[in-house]
Amino acid sequence: MQLAAGKDAVILLSGGIDSATAAAIAREQGFQLHALSFDYGQRHIRELDSAKRVAAFLGAASHRLIKFDLRGIGGSALTDQIEVPKGRSAAAIAQGIPVTYVPARNTIFLSFALALAERIDAVDIFFGANQLDYSGYPDCREAYINAFEQMANLATKAGVEGKRRLTVRTPLLHLSKAEIIKKGRELGVDYGLTWSCYDPTFDEQACGGCDSCQLRLKGFEEAGAVDPVPYKR
Ligand SMILES: [Zn+2]
Repeated sequence: MQLAAGKDAVILLSGGIDSATAAAIAREQGFQLHALSFDYGQRHIRELDSAKRVAAFLGAASHRLIKFDLRGIGGSALTDQIEVPKGRSAAAIAQGIPVTYVPARNTIFLSFALALAERIDAVDIFFGANQLDYSGYPDCREAYINAFEQMANLATKAGVEGKRRLTVRTPLLHLSKAEIIKKGRELGVDYGLTWSCYDPTFDEQACGGCDSCQLRLKGFEEAGAVDPVPYKR
């Protein structure tokens, strides 16, 4: 085993606020970052530019882009011919699972992270899941994370041979969006590099009205900060 083993961590990097902040926290904790992003046929492919910039900004040891096409499954406003909802009220956003939910997406992402962790002898996977301000997606909740971690240790050679326990670290799970932004700013994260909008304009401005934009804008407002990303007027 190499000397650095055990300090390497896999980080799921979408290009958004949460994953950038989780990555900054991992770095602060002394981990070497191995970032993983996905081109899965998402409407907001713009986020991958941000993932690349964030990985470089945080000095990631590696950054992989995995391609597959979830439009072959569809069933989400992000991967199918379904309109992204705009201008929903905070109460509406907080209720139920919206049409921007992508079927089983985080399980697919985490499975790739698990494969990479096993491949590079890492035992830590960082995942910026947040169950407070995250549109009620079921695959961002604590019970789900715990179950995935348990599965990971049953599913891999590394886990079964018992050499080490794989851990899914979710440092943002119980934070509000504002708390996440404050934490990231303390750690020097440049949120101008990040991207959240599900439905950007052709000239790369955020729409300001989708759930993701609204949660982001509310987070910045509550954190007493200005969002550096451009919005369409
Ligand atoms: Zn938007």
